[in-house]
Amino acid sequence: MSVPRYWRNMPKREKLESKKCEKCGHVDFPPRARCLKCGSDALIPYTLPDRGKLTSFTIVRSAPKGFEKMTPYVLGVVELIDRTLITVQITDVDPSDVAIGMPLESVFRKVCEDGDCGIIEYAIKFRPAV
Ligand SMILES: [Zn+2]
Repeated sequence: MSVPRYWRNMPKREKLESKKCEKCGHVDFPPRARCLKCGSDALIPYTLPDRGKLTSFTIVRSAPKGFEKMTPYVLGVVELIDRTLITVQITDVDPSDVAIGMPLESVFRKVCEDGDCGIIEYAIKFRPAV
């Protein structure tokens, strides 16, 4: 994706966007072409809530290439207030203070920098709710 297009789409990236099944109400994240629950392709745009709670997590100490500087970091499964489950990085907290059930809120944060061309990528992470 070109840099201008990336920045043009920036407001959309600050929210978790997905699709909701018109037939059964199920939400998949990331969005799919068909509902994973009932198979329907009648899906409508849906903005996921920005709050939830931590249901499970792991602490990453051996990171993939490009993420080495971030270790240790926490990857968690968050149950949003609409009950949708998402896998996301947990930020702004010491890994030793992370606990199942902790309330979380979304935040737009830097993910990584492309070393050669210097492009900084951003994405949604979750932090302890204030
Ligand atoms: Zn469905």
